[in-house]
Amino acid sequence: MIVVMEKGASEAEVQHIVERVESMGLKSHVIQGTERTVIAAIGEKREQTKESLVTGSGVAEVLSILAPYKVASREVKPELTCIQTGSLIVGGGKVGVIAGPCSVESEQQILSTARAVKAAGATALRGGAFKPRTSPYSFQGLKEKGLQLLASARDETGLAVVTEVMATDEVDLVAKYADVLQVGARNMQNYRLLESVGNTDRAVLLKRGPSATIDELLLAAEYILNEGNSQVILCERGIRTFESHTRFTLPLATVAYLRQKTHLPIVVDPSHGTGHTELVPDMAAASVAAGADGLMLEVHPNPEEALSDGYQSLNFEQFEMTMEKCRRIASAVDKQLGA
Ligand code: PEP
Ligand code: MN
Repeated sequence: MIVVMEKGASEAEVQHIVERVESMGLKSHVIQGTERTVIAAIGEKREQTKESLVTGSGVAEVLSILAPYKVASREVKPELTCIQTGSLIVGGGKVGVIAGPCSVESEQQILSTARAVKAAGATALRGGAFKPRTSPYSFQGLKEKGLQLLASARDETGLAVVTEVMATDEVDLVAKYADVLQVGARNMQNYRLLESVGNTDRAVLLKRGPSATIDELLLAAEYILNEGNSQVILCERGIRTFESHTRFTLPLATVAYLRQKTHLPIVVDPSHGTGHTELVPDMAAASVAAGADGLMLEVHPNPEEALSDGYQSLNFEQFEMTMEKCRRIASAVDKQLGA
């Protein structure tokens, strides 16, 4: 349910409604809009709740939220959310660019990549230190050593660090080094992990599970928001279909659909979405055209030698060309790409 306050409602009136909502055993989220304040009342719906709130002083109307997700919904917050953390801005007319290798492999690899992507206009550095690999025999990441290398690349370049956290008992460790905690596709429905990142003060990049519906993605985001962390960035990274020419199928209608349904910023990852280096530039450009607030791109100094996902990684020159292409598309849709 949302309680829409009147235009000039006072702080005391808002506070009173918050107390009423909470005394009914519901959770309250106050959203300060540019026009009015709304209070989302979240919890099991009860018949009398609506009537008893609508009579409150300063209340304009009380509406049911139709979507299964609540705090993520544009019904609750029509204004789009812009998230800024360090050098990374997603939303508000800016297209953030999160670039870097699939995995952090060495000091030389991550530093040279950080310098190159920064020079080409990237606004954040990615790199996995804890890697979710399909096979237990594949490279699992440098773990804390990888996090330290990311942090020193940030110290040198000023780029915000985006890196994956795989387990609840590693959240504190990863949050110590990262600006943005990435929840990977395989963990999209790991509800304890979602709650755990929801209890940090770090922004969270939530990747869509390869077999999750969009409602399931939004309900996963809701777990994070419900813990009080409002900095959630959604990421479309491709889903599993019958098509086998690409690693996953990258549905860009997700971007347009999410834009209607949620105020949260939307990032697209065409590297995992296609699984082929040569398809990445066009799909990156298409993502920007579809309205993405950010891109996540895998970049490696020498993709042939990458310890993971080399076949979908751009080298420095390819990244620069992709940025050039996407910058033109961004300006055509009145946005600014990267730095
Ligand atoms: C990644 O970004 O390196 C990654 C593992 O992605 P996903 O979770 O989308 O497979
Ligand atoms: Mn990867």
